[in-house]
Amino acid sequence: MTGDTTDGTPGDEQAGRPVTHATPSGTRNWAGNVTFGAARVHSPTSLGELQEIVGGAERVRALGTGHSFNRIADTPADLVSVARLPEAVAIDHERAQATVSAGMRYAQVCRALDDSGYALHNLGSLPHISVAGACATGTHGSGVTNANLAAAVAGVEWVAADGSVASLARGDAGFDGAVLSLGMLGVATRLTLDLEPSFTVRQDVYEDMPLGRLATDLDEIVGSAYSVSLFTDWTSPSFNQVWLKRRTDAPERPTPRRWMDAHLADGPRHPVPGMPAGNCTEQMGKPGPWYQRLPHFRPDLVPSAGDELQTEYLVARPHALAAVEAVAALAPRIAPVLQICELRTVARDELWLSPSYRRDTFAVHFTWTSDVEAVMPVVRDIEAALAPVGALPHWGKVFTTAPEVVRAGFERLDDARRLRQRYDPGAKFTNAFVETYV
Ligand SMILES: Cc1cc2nc3c(=O)[nH]c(=O)nc-3n(C[C@H](O)[C@H](O)[C@H](O)COP(=O)(O)OP(=O)(O)OC[C@H]3O[C@@H](n4cnc5c(N)ncnc54)[C@H](O)[C@@H]3O)c2cc1C
Repeated sequence: MTGDTTDGTPGDEQAGRPVTHATPSGTRNWAGNVTFGAARVHSPTSLGELQEIVGGAERVRALGTGHSFNRIADTPADLVSVARLPEAVAIDHERAQATVSAGMRYAQVCRALDDSGYALHNLGSLPHISVAGACATGTHGSGVTNANLAAAVAGVEWVAADGSVASLARGDAGFDGAVLSLGMLGVATRLTLDLEPSFTVRQDVYEDMPLGRLATDLDEIVGSAYSVSLFTDWTSPSFNQVWLKRRTDAPERPTPRRWMDAHLADGPRHPVPGMPAGNCTEQMGKPGPWYQRLPHFRPDLVPSAGDELQTEYLVARPHALAAVEAVAALAPRIAPVLQICELRTVARDELWLSPSYRRDTFAVHFTWTSDVEAVMPVVRDIEAALAPVGALPHWGKVFTTAPEVVRAGFERLDDARRLRQRYDPGAKFTNAFVETYV
């Protein structure tokens, strides 16, 4: 497993290959821990082709760039990538919105937006992922005022079960279940995103902040920049690193050499110990465009460790410290299979299947080694420890939380089910993952 994004997922196919083919044996997700069981993979190059494929299939699942760590995108039947549909970023200056092709990666979309003077409010740690895939799973970045990426979607258009094109816009009945949809309504083709004027961000990294500072200064720490990430490998009494991403249009704050008992890093850093800082976005306080600072990783290089599994749990903000304490108590179990743990904040949203639905959340993320057998028992222990604080798993990462616990965590689940019934009464877009958790 190289960790490169050109690992054979259908979204990476070159033009000229057959549009429909049997799944190349061993087609896997980015992490290499999921081998897709699809009988056929389709990479249509026009909307008409996509409509024909969807309309004629018995069971279909959409695939983005395959960066999820579980079987959320899998199907035994037909897998459809929209990566080869025509790419477009159409900006509506009056509304400050852009309608973008669903299969485009954030890296491409962001460059086009910035060229026209616009920005998105938030980005995940990597820009390699497709817009539709990221939004379908609730992908988020960090920031006390920053909701997840799907929260910026003002409209979505998709190919529905009968092959027709359906769409919903913010304010329409059902819209709040149609974007963060786990891919269960159909194959999204276009999303309309809210824009704001382009902005500049500086990124500073502090090292060795005592873990105890979180207990006394949580709000100040997570509120000290537009986006804040805390990293620890749980082998020392300190956070290895704290990344502060500050907008340069915000009221200026000093960048002292010491802050919260931490010290300013004297060079660029990678959050995963031992990995090259060159894969990361620029640090050392140098201002740069939003899309080159909000993600941790550069679009053209391997993000994160590359050889890994990931897990993440979200809890309501008031439970942040209890969650961290519960995880800290498991440090001796966690550390041997952990590459790095990242703590972030996610602002509330209105999306029915979002773990941040109407609650500001605190996210506890784990980048594990790729040793599934060693990692899974630790994942189960963490879930047991976080159960009392109502932790909900990230939809796109590895988890074993009992389905009834997951279902009970989403108060609008029945609305989501009704929406699915309305658009996909024959359950054409379902898969084992959706059946289990929805
Ligand atoms: C190195 C790495 C770093 C990550 N960092 C973060 C992070 O910072 N924050 C975070 O929250 N997550 C993070 N993730 C998780 C990642 O953002 C999600 O798994 C995301 O869903 C990946 O997008 P994708 O395009 O690869 O989707 P896929 O994994 O291909 O698909 C995910 C889901 O989206 C659906 N889908 C995809 N395309 C469409 C479409 N056109 N129409 C309808 N449904 C569709 C699929 O059916 C599936 O259900 C990270 C993952 C990796 C590998």
